[in-house]
Amino acid sequence: MNHDIERVLIPEGEILAGVERLAREITEFYRGSEFTVVSVLKGSCIFASDLIRRIPIPLELAFAAAHSYGARTEAGELSIDLLPTGNEVRGRRILLVDDILDTGQTLKRLKDELLASGAGEVRTCVFLDKPSRRALEFEADLRAFEVDNLFVVGYGLDYAGRYRNLPYVGVLRDAAIS
Ligand code: 5GP
Ligand code: MG
Repeated sequence: MNHDIERVLIPEGEILAGVERLAREITEFYRGSEFTVVSVLKGSCIFASDLIRRIPIPLELAFAAAHSYGARTEAGELSIDLLPTGNEVRGRRILLVDDILDTGQTLKRLKDELLASGAGEVRTCVFLDKPSRRALEFEADLRAFEVDNLFVVGYGLDYAGRYRNLPYVGVLRDAAIS
């Protein structure tokens, strides 16, 4: 797997320092109040699990999932596969956690759905942000790293279902892209 990577963009140590920094901000923001982390599957599973273990205050965990059709370079049709139950959301403060904010359609749509399900508040936190790719007006409240317009894998992010288990973020060699 490692030899499919052309270069490492964010090494493991830097990732964990970024996660620590976000965890401290989140802890201070929610201290003294109830909140629920909603992890967007599958991409944010690694980020969310590293993040919540560094937040030493009570929280609940729930999951959402969405996928978009069409070429990965366009904002294809989005479909929502999983949302937390009404009981997990109603009246709650929600922190929506995703792997990467690209065109913005996934997080915008999930945020709107959670608010429509009665969430009291929805804030968003992303591991990576690609601001140059935004197709609609949407910004995350928190982000660990900004990246250029490159397709990246690792630390939860996949190509054709693979590479999520790399401990760093890297760029694939052309030969690994079929
Ligand atoms: P958005 O709805 O913001 O356009 O897209 C978000 C989703 O697109 C992410 O959750 C992720 O699944 C996928 N995505 C966007 N950019 C990348 C990338 O550079 N690498 C990978 N592996 N997935 C990406
Ligand atoms: Mg995703």
